[in-house]
Amino acid sequence: MPASRRVTRAVSAVLDLAPHHGEVSLTSLIQAVSEDRGRPIELKMAELPPGVCGQWRQYADRDVFLIQRGLPAGDRTLAHELGHLVLGHDGIPVAEAARERVEVASSDLIGYMLNQRTGCMGPAGEDAEQEAEDFAALLLYRLGRLPSDRSSIIQVRLGEAFG
Ligand SMILES: [Zn+2]
Repeated sequence: MPASRRVTRAVSAVLDLAPHHGEVSLTSLIQAVSEDRGRPIELKMAELPPGVCGQWRQYADRDVFLIQRGLPAGDRTLAHELGHLVLGHDGIPVAEAARERVEVASSDLIGYMLNQRTGCMGPAGEDAEQEAEDFAALLLYRLGRLPSDRSSIIQVRLGEAFG
């Protein structure tokens, strides 16, 4: 299924933020997005419940991407959570979840409720999940096609210009 224009634009916008020197990795892109927003994004490995790959938690002053420890497709999950963030999907406001949904919440219960909205894939047909998946697939594809050394881009262009 081809990515929507909205997703394609979001991927391009993120790649435009890429650092101008050195290799562009997924984590350096996430760092660049965080600087662009003026709001830290923390990456953390966590023991999430079985079947949950990743989770985006919104705190008052920062965002946290939790990634299931030992996940073989960690990059894909990170890119998926980044997709939710840059596409403006609702994250999980942690304090709000606690305040609005339960009177007295144990952290276990909050964790359980949060996990209802996360996972490798959301319920079928959920637009936000599909968009985040499309974003992740396209971003990783385009990242994989970037030259690993920026100077090679210049060489190719010079070659085209003078060749
Ligand atoms: Zn998701």
